[in-house]
Amino acid sequence: MSEYLLLDYQKRKRVSEPASILDFTDGNFYFEWKEPFSIEKINTYLPGLWRYAKWLPVDFSQFNTMGEGYTPLIQLKFFGKEIFVKQEQLFPTGSYKDRGASVMIRAAIEQGVKHIIQDSSGNAGCAVAAYAARAGISCEIFVPESTSPDKLTQIAAYGARLNKIKGDRTATAKAALQASKSHYYASHCYNPFFYEGTKTFAFETVEQLGWKAPDAVVLPAGNGTLIIGAYLGFKHLLSSGVIDKMPRIIGVQARNCAPLFQQWKGVETSSQFEDTLAEGIAIPFPIRAKQMIAIIEETKGAFITVSETQIKDTLRACIQNGFYIEPTSAATIAGLEEAFEIFNKKNWVTLFSGHGLKSSAKINALINT
Ligand SMILES: *Cc1c(COP(=O)(O)O)cnc(C)c1O
Repeated sequence: MSEYLLLDYQKRKRVSEPASILDFTDGNFYFEWKEPFSIEKINTYLPGLWRYAKWLPVDFSQFNTMGEGYTPLIQLKFFGKEIFVKQEQLFPTGSYKDRGASVMIRAAIEQGVKHIIQDSSGNAGCAVAAYAARAGISCEIFVPESTSPDKLTQIAAYGARLNKIKGDRTATAKAALQASKSHYYASHCYNPFFYEGTKTFAFETVEQLGWKAPDAVVLPAGNGTLIIGAYLGFKHLLSSGVIDKMPRIIGVQARNCAPLFQQWKGVETSSQFEDTLAEGIAIPFPIRAKQMIAIIEETKGAFITVSETQIKDTLRACIQNGFYIEPTSAATIAGLEEAFEIFNKKNWVTLFSGHGLKSSAKINALINT
């Protein structure tokens, strides 16, 4: 008997097996675990996030790991309050996307996949390309033609083939969906294995807090790979009796591109969005929007927006304290100011989502203005 179920949030149904295990292009698939989480069953001898292999729908393998996960949780002070900050910029590819990519690529290997496709010009593309390279799977990344060469260097260096598509981000997504009819779609948005990886953020946080749930968690809100993953992780710990409450989940968006905040508030969603320094969360049409909004409501959290000035000031403050993070990561930290005002809570957790070394040109322009 399988230890987990595959469900589809969008269609509100259980699917024991998808029509084709390769077809994750339609629906909002996610896993629900029957095997309870138990502290005794953690494999402490396995590297990083693989200590939780018992509750991952794949096996641990030396062939694609880089020792990713179990990032440090340190206490810092922002806006006059102490908060635990998970150092997710310290992953092998420079962002927490490694959580999802390492598990998803492992699943692809187990399904006998030899070639994967993905569409992302940012950190998800880097992570998928890196773990595919590590596993010896060929990888093709679809990017908009207009993507700056800077971001493509890391992806191409791993050996992934870049497929540049004319038009906007939507045209690129369409091209990837089309290609996914004949190839494995290793999408960080659609593929449920990715969320099985990101859920380990919750496991690690709770373990590092001495098996206690935080009162509130402040996370970036773009496509929701972390919000949904963390939610699944906390939920599993709660249903297993490891923690006794769900933390409030608070999602931060850039004010210039805040479709989730707008939908959650019930205001008219604009279809025109402006550029933002927080490019990693500038997602005009998140395909899992409904699922993310339901999570914020169920956990009695909130969506918060931050201005470009807030992002810039916070980025400067973080770097001048020794934390070289990317501008997108500063948006989440900037959101703490309002989160602290709305919720009078004691135990807070947030993260530095990505490393600054990839964005040095952008950071250089910012700190000199
Ligand atoms: C992907 C990413 C985010 C946003 O995550 P979503 O999954 O899109 O919600 C935030 N920061 C960094 C550095 C990222 O790479």
